[in-house]
Amino acid sequence: MTVRPAAATGEFALIARHFVRPLAHTRLGIGDDAALLAPRAGHTLAVSTDLLVEGTHFLPGTDACRLGHKTLAVNLSDLAAMGATPRWAFLAVALPEADDAWLAAFADGFFALAAAHGVDLAGGDTTRGPRALCVTVAGEVPEAAALRRDGARAGDDVWLTGCTGEAAAGLAVLQGRATLDAADAAHCRARLEAPTPRVAAGLALRGIATAAIDVSDGLLADAGHIAVRSQVRIAIERARLPQSSALAGLDARMRADAVVAGGDDYELLLCAPRDARAAVDAAGTDGPRAELCDRDGRVLPVARTGFDHFAAGAA
Ligand code: ADP
Ligand code: MG
Repeated sequence: MTVRPAAATGEFALIARHFVRPLAHTRLGIGDDAALLAPRAGHTLAVSTDLLVEGTHFLPGTDACRLGHKTLAVNLSDLAAMGATPRWAFLAVALPEADDAWLAAFADGFFALAAAHGVDLAGGDTTRGPRALCVTVAGEVPEAAALRRDGARAGDDVWLTGCTGEAAAGLAVLQGRATLDAADAAHCRARLEAPTPRVAAGLALRGIATAAIDVSDGLLADAGHIAVRSQVRIAIERARLPQSSALAGLDARMRADAVVAGGDDYELLLCAPRDARAAVDAAGTDGPRAELCDRDGRVLPVARTGFDHFAAGAA
């Protein structure tokens, strides 16, 4: 049997056209059975995966460029929450058809953010199916410097890198459940569709934060993850949460719900000792907003704390 090199067709042509880009720090990238990666000396790989499914995580008809951005952004947010430097991404794509225009726009959004963070796309998978996008990212962090969920201690402050609730408000406006003036609606929609991963803040918080998580499911749900892993009680005072002026036009109840349980925020929630206040401030957060208690904290009367796809009663 003779095997000759053949011009790429179909799936492989699609990959070559849209996903093969110059690589900055990958030993072997797209085109082999596996990529070869080498973390820098003294660093451990931090690896995370996020899957976005049409109809569950994004609305059908979402702008492809923004979706390309968001697909990577939600993963970079996980690396930020670990205090890791993003280095590599892997992209698995299921598409109903080989739509070149859609893929080109998707790749534009994806690679603009990848370039901004020095991320190499080192591999992936491409298949026909209901639209879904799965990115795996890998970053580098000195193991002892990783920002884990299990390091919070009683007496720590709780911080947020920015406002929560804006993405949820953007979704409510898109779905016709709420109205905001045009500027606020556009701001909230951009927060939903093109979130900014807090990579620089995550790196700056190495050695300062005792625990961190990125807020994707909802503030209370994600604070709960730190509480469980760190075995502490976290009290969040509603009045001390960062207030977004873009949410001023929302019904008070919807606003309160969006802020504590809306999700898709991609801000970092972190804990740090009180004597680190100046250092945390310098890392770009919004000021101490709540206190971590080991005694009785106030219990918030909320309808829900965040998203859980398999919770009893979830659609
Ligand atoms: P395999 O059959 O071993 O899974 P494939 O034929 O699916 O390999 O992929 C060929 C090469 O293209 C691999 O290096 C793979 O990592 C890469 N690749 C496939 N799809 C994508 C994609 N959507 N983005 C980036 N790289 C991809
Ligand atoms: Mg494959």
